[in-house]
Amino acid sequence: MKLLENKTALITGASRGIGRSHALLFADEGANIIFTDLQENENSASLLEELRAKGVRADFLASNAADNAQAMDVAKWVGENYGRLDILVNNAGITKDQLILRMSVEDWNLVMDVNLRSVFNYTKAFAPMMMKQRAGSIINISSIVGVNGNAGQCNYASSKAGIIGFTKSIAKELGSRNIRCNAVAPGFIETPMTRALPEEVRKDWMTKIPLRRGGLDSDVAKVSLFLASELSAYVTGQVIQVDGGLG
Ligand code: NAP
Repeated sequence: MKLLENKTALITGASRGIGRSHALLFADEGANIIFTDLQENENSASLLEELRAKGVRADFLASNAADNAQAMDVAKWVGENYGRLDILVNNAGITKDQLILRMSVEDWNLVMDVNLRSVFNYTKAFAPMMMKQRAGSIINISSIVGVNGNAGQCNYASSKAGIIGFTKSIAKELGSRNIRCNAVAPGFIETPMTRALPEEVRKDWMTKIPLRRGGLDSDVAKVSLFLASELSAYVTGQVIQVDGGLG
């Protein structure tokens, strides 16, 4: 039996990157997948095709995770079309890096809205359904930057630290209904952005990572798979760092 057989999972911002990797891995383990992104594009179309080719039910919804009303509409749609949601992965996130003296209020607000308010929006939208089911696993994608801070990322680090406080609070609030809520905090993950860094900057990062390599999208998705499945039935309110020991 696959780990997520007969489960339905929703992943926000999943057309590419870490979210896409979650969608594909969860589908491999038998889950039906609903994924969102700001708009339909080549990535969302190809992911939908790949998921359906795996034999699971899959749907894409264009929706802005930062918008509470749109998150409520997504929950209504999922209720009407799937009847339940077992796993929610709050993955959508952006960066707008700048030193504090140069950071605009707009870039502060945008990062907080997309990264943190979205987690509130989706958790609030799906909590009633999960409470009725008396089952659910919520996985919030934070960052080690939310644990340690990072110069030039005070907006991003604050949003990711906020996710940790939110996760621990929801675990306490909804635990009695058998709803678990955990966070995953990735470190240096190999993405187009990190691959484009100058070679000496990359080398400097590698010397700081005990496992001496950047993480893969799939390294993050595998930890989320553990949190999504019954393998972690007694784990809630935790932050798991997926950072090769970077700390
Ligand atoms: P990515 O490749 O930039 O993917 C982010 C996805 O979120 C994109 O598909 C993007 O859509 C979507 N998105 C952006 N704003 C949205 C919104 N308002 N509503 C719905 N979807 C939205 O990023 P990633 O590297 O995979 O990161 C995924 C998560 O992991 C983020 O929360 C990020 O902070 C976190 N993380 C990443 C790293 C890393 O090294 N990559 C490290 C730690 C944590 P568009 O295609 O339209 O832009």
